[in-house]
Amino acid sequence: MQLTKRVQRLNESMTIAISTLARDLKKEGKDILSFSAGEPDFDTPEIIKKEAIKALNNGFTKYTAVAGISELLKAISGKLKRENNLDYKPENIITSNGAKHSLFNLIQALIESGDEVVIPSPYWVTYPELVRYSGGVPVIVETNDENDFKMSAKQLKKAITDKTKMVILTTPSNPTGSLYTKKELEEMAEVLKGTNIFVCSDEMYEKLIYDKEFVSVASISEDMFQRTITVNGLSKSVAMTGWRFGYLASPNNELIKAMVKLQSQSSSNINSITQYAAIPALEGRVDKEIELMRREFQKRRDLAVELINNIDKLSVVKPDGAFYLFINIKKVNNDSMSFAKELLAKKGVAVIPGIGFGSEGYVRFSFATNEKNIIEGIKRIKEFVE
Ligand code: PMP
Ligand code: GLU
Repeated sequence: MQLTKRVQRLNESMTIAISTLARDLKKEGKDILSFSAGEPDFDTPEIIKKEAIKALNNGFTKYTAVAGISELLKAISGKLKRENNLDYKPENIITSNGAKHSLFNLIQALIESGDEVVIPSPYWVTYPELVRYSGGVPVIVETNDENDFKMSAKQLKKAITDKTKMVILTTPSNPTGSLYTKKELEEMAEVLKGTNIFVCSDEMYEKLIYDKEFVSVASISEDMFQRTITVNGLSKSVAMTGWRFGYLASPNNELIKAMVKLQSQSSSNINSITQYAAIPALEGRVDKEIELMRREFQKRRDLAVELINNIDKLSVVKPDGAFYLFINIKKVNNDSMSFAKELLAKKGVAVIPGIGFGSEGYVRFSFATNEKNIIEGIKRIKEFVE
C-alpha cells in the first residue's frame, strides 16, 4: 500500500505509546509502576460531572456551531480576561477536541511547505511532528538543565531566518516544568518586534505552578498580543483528559475563520456535553478543587525531587510547574531509550526517554501519581542505577 508521504513522515506519539505499553503490561498482571502518563490521577470535579449529566438530561446531544456554543465561547473569553488579562472576544476563539487538536488546526492553517517553526528543546513530543506533517521545518533550539531548560532571547534571535513563521513557547513546559518569567518573555518580545513571526503559546499547565507567578505570553505587550495564539484546555488543570476539550484564541479573525473552516470539514463541533461541562471550570467554579490538586502535586514534586537528588548518579532541576521531572541520567547512560527500556524490563518502572522530547541523556518522570508509588518507583530506580 502506498501511504501518503506526509503520513509516513509522522512518528507515533512516544508519550502515548509508552503509557499504553505500561497499561497493557499491568493488565497482563505484571508488577508495573508507571510514571509515563501525562495526566492527573485525580477524578474530574463533581460540579463538572453534574453539569454534564444536566446537559444530557436536557437533551443537549445535537450538533452545535463548529467553534462551540456561544455560552462556552463567552466563558472562555471571560476566563482569559479575568485570569490572564487578555481581551479576546468570543469570535476570536475556537474550541477543539483537546489542545492537541487546536495545535493541529493552527499548524495546518498557518504552516506552509518550507516555513520554519522555532521550537525550544526539550519540547513536547507533538510539536515537531505536526510541523513536519504540514511540510514545515522545525528549527530546534537546544536548552539544558544548566539554563533551567529555557530558551534565551539571544538563542531565539540566532534561530530566526527570513523563513521563520512561528515560535512555539510552552510555559510551564512539558517535559521540564520550567516557567518563563515576565522579564524573559519581554526580552523575547523585543527580538520579535518588527517581524511577521507568530507565537504559539501553549499554556496547558498554567494552573499547576509552584511558588512562582504565571505570565501569559500574549499579555506582555500589544505587539505580542497581536502575534500570539494562546492555546489552552482543561485536561491537566481540571483532570479532564478524556473529555477532549481544548481551545485557542487569536485577535486575527482571518486565522480563526480558517481553522473553523478546516474543523467544519474534519471533526465539526466538539462533544456537545463536554461544552456544557467545561463552563463551570472556565467560570472559576472549581477553583477550590484545582487548588487542592495543585497543592498535592507540589507535595509530590518536593518529595520526588528530594528522592531523585539523593541518588548519586542522577540529578534533577526542581520544576516550577506542571507534573514532570526531567531527570539527568548522563552519568548512567546517555542513551535514554536503552535506559528506559532496561528500567521497564528489569524493574517494571515506566518513564519516557528524553529523546522523544528531543533531548538525549534525560528521562521524563511524571509525578501525577500517589506518594506510595513515587517512593517505591524511585527506590526501584535507585536500585537500577546503582
Ligand atoms: N500541550 C501540552 C504541553 C501537553 O502536555 C498536552 C498533553 N499532555 C497538550 C498540549 C494536549 O492536551 P489535550 O489534547 O489533552 O488538551
Ligand atoms: N501530553 C501528555 C503527555 O505528555 C499526554 C500524552 C500525549 O498527548 O502525548 O504525556
